[in-house]
Amino acid sequence: MKIQQPSRRRFLIQAAVAATALPLLASLARSPAEAQALKKLTADNAQAKALGYVDDASKSSNAAHKAGSLCSNCQFFTASTGACALFAGYSVNSKGWCSAWAKKA
Ligand code: SF4
Repeated sequence: MKIQQPSRRRFLIQAAVAATALPLLASLARSPAEAQALKKLTADNAQAKALGYVDDASKSSNAAHKAGSLCSNCQFFTASTGACALFAGYSVNSKGWCSAWAKKA
């Protein structure tokens, strides 16, 4: 029994380290690939149409659009990848806009 405790303890420590480190390593390894995998969002995308997305906010005719609101200052935008949390798998133009725009905190 005494012989098994260090082994069990070691196993539990290794399992805890693996449980903590593996997701972190996976996310670090995945980030560049995900950035490359993003497709550019176009206005003909069904969800983009529904939200009135435009590649150039200055050309929006949507009544909800307010001057100065851009993807780049929206809380859903990730500048490093161009990703938008609302359009999984796509990148949006930093000068774009859609009706889900919310001011970045
Ligand atoms: S939610 Fe924000 S970042 Fe995404 S497309 Fe709309 S305005 Fe741009």
